[in-house]
Amino acid sequence: MLERVLTDLEARMRAAPDRGKVADYIPELARVDPARFGISVCLADGRQLSMGDAEVPFSIQSVSKVFALAIALGRFGETLWIRVGREPSSRAFNSVVDLELEGGKPRNPFVNAGAIVVTDAILANRAPKETLAEIVRFLRAASGSDAIHIDQAVARSETETGHRNWSLAHFLKSTDNLRHDCALTLGTYFHQCAIEMTCADLARAGRFLAGLSRDDDLISRAHVRSINALMMTCGHYDGSGEFAYRVGFPGKSGVGGGILAIVPGKASIAVWSPGLNRWGNSMLGTMALEELSDAMGWSVFNAG
Ligand code: GLU
Repeated sequence: MLERVLTDLEARMRAAPDRGKVADYIPELARVDPARFGISVCLADGRQLSMGDAEVPFSIQSVSKVFALAIALGRFGETLWIRVGREPSSRAFNSVVDLELEGGKPRNPFVNAGAIVVTDAILANRAPKETLAEIVRFLRAASGSDAIHIDQAVARSETETGHRNWSLAHFLKSTDNLRHDCALTLGTYFHQCAIEMTCADLARAGRFLAGLSRDDDLISRAHVRSINALMMTCGHYDGSGEFAYRVGFPGKSGVGGGILAIVPGKASIAVWSPGLNRWGNSMLGTMALEELSDAMGWSVFNAG
């Protein structure tokens, strides 16, 4: 059944005329072919089904924030929430206004300001290289793939042009919510966002969030629940309500066009299509997840 659904989905997404707009505010991302489409699904019975460009590495960008948060919760637990909120946002993912209105406490760990604070937190007592190695190691352990790496050209591209993130970091510094130099924290954040991996690896990396992997060592069950709740309410920025309404399970998007989506107890899904919708989330990726959710009855809001 699932195989048929995915085959059909891939054919239709491949042919879709409107594919959204590839992110071009990071010059290196603007070069990605908008025709790409890949999807991979890991299931509770251990099977993994993949279609399209599921083995082509792409820039996971903000999907990395899920894994940085997992590490931060493991190290700091609830005290993390002194520095970052847990509420959805109604403004864009890189809004400076939101941060100013909240007095320097980002609304949640997935908007850029919040993710910068999370990265700053996990830099405590670690050099940037060690922190990045820790994130990559986490992803490799969760996915079982050693191919996951950081694309230095993408990291450089954003370091040179990411002025909005620089302004967020400086604002955080001015309100005493950044422990390290702006350049040190942001350099680490840009490299974390520049992690490159395939849909197949990303779907496997998400299994611990769906309760599918035997490896309980990665993080506690309580933290899995926290992360899934935040992915549902904040994972698609100011488009999170729309995503919950249409798809009905937790997901985290990235401006590289990837989405990691979790059906608790049932599936870990990674989808990639580089064109974005008006919220900066993958347009066809969202559409594919919506259709998959409908076909499989996977919305967590189904009443039976
Ligand atoms: N590196 C990107 C930025 O900070 C991540 C945003 C995203 O993927 O949504 O702008």
